[in-house]
Amino acid sequence: MTDRVHLSHPDVGPLEESYLVAALRSGWVAPVGPDLDAFENEVAARVGTRGAVAVSSGTAALHLALLGVGVQPGDAVVVPTLTFVATANAVRYTGARPVFVDCDARTGNIDVPLLSELLHRLRARGERVGAVVPVDMFGSCADYPALLPVCGDAGVPVVEDAAEALGATDHGRAAGSFGQVGALSFNGNKIITTSSGGMLVSDDLPLLARARHLASQAREPVAHYEHRETGYNYRLSNLLAAVGRAQLARLDGMIGRRRLLRDRYAKLFASVPGVELVGAEDVESNCWLTVIRVRSERSGWRAADLAAHLAAQNIETRPVWKPMHRQPAYADFESLLTGAADDLFAEGLTLPSGSGLTEQQIATVFGAIEGFLAVRTGAVSG
Ligand SMILES: *Cc1c(COP(=O)(O)O)cnc(C)c1O
Repeated sequence: MTDRVHLSHPDVGPLEESYLVAALRSGWVAPVGPDLDAFENEVAARVGTRGAVAVSSGTAALHLALLGVGVQPGDAVVVPTLTFVATANAVRYTGARPVFVDCDARTGNIDVPLLSELLHRLRARGERVGAVVPVDMFGSCADYPALLPVCGDAGVPVVEDAAEALGATDHGRAAGSFGQVGALSFNGNKIITTSSGGMLVSDDLPLLARARHLASQAREPVAHYEHRETGYNYRLSNLLAAVGRAQLARLDGMIGRRRLLRDRYAKLFASVPGVELVGAEDVESNCWLTVIRVRSERSGWRAADLAAHLAAQNIETRPVWKPMHRQPAYADFESLLTGAADDLFAEGLTLPSGSGLTEQQIATVFGAIEGFLAVRTGAVSG
């Protein structure tokens, strides 16, 4: 590890090492084996779904989830404009087209009244809507009590992009379990990691069986190589599943560390004018990333000023996702916007939030922010 403080560095240690070595010695090195089966069962138990299918990435999980709910080429699929590009890319893999909808200004999650309006518009035009893909932004569940009836009334299946949200809940129900199918990510920067990996979680066992089939080149269960449709090579290695099992065993501890960090940020910024934590009131978030929003007309400084100050001290921060309707690859697609995502992109900043940060690294980050505030906030009031 370098001296650089990262946003969300993989948090792995002796437990992951012992699981990985045991899997290697077991001889199950292929994308099949007991750790894969156990990892699927353990994640399904954690999320509270009847089953799960491990795959090579969260993006692959989203792709198979969209196919699983019957998304067809040419369909409209509603995606929040504030998300990581993988959500929109997965829609394109199916031949469908994403239609973007803005976010709630306070939480960054999909704006449900606006979604409702968009579904009415699409329906009025006679368009087939293949799915709605809410994203549990930064580890905070979308507003499902509002969203699920809207999608249910419209007869549109929900594919939950819970890539950032494993371990989060809403009214006690786990992220990943709200849609007909959910997609999780175990990429290196996510709440738990298998270095790269993902999973579909669902109560819909036929959907999961079909996803498993498509993830294995759609190979028919016969001795010769028989294929009736185009499949994909999306399976996860048994070795990586072993790492995932170790990570999952530590999930609650890792969420606890991220939550503690977020609480400390909340305290630090509580008395700073013009700064608020995005989604701070969600006590069931997994606190994947702490995001602040800086209203410069009140603070006297911009998010980018703090980012530059921290970068100079080798501390990584990032803007929130650049909205999809601003991306060259997606600017030509339809969208229904309020400006909320644009504002969050302009004013938001994600802060170092990893569960693996040492006390010394945390002290470095907080010292750097306090140093910045002492100068900038003083300048405003003085
Ligand atoms: C990380 C992420 C994905 C993709 O997961 P990968 O495992 O990197 O393919 C999808 N959606 C969101 C919102 C993400 O943050």
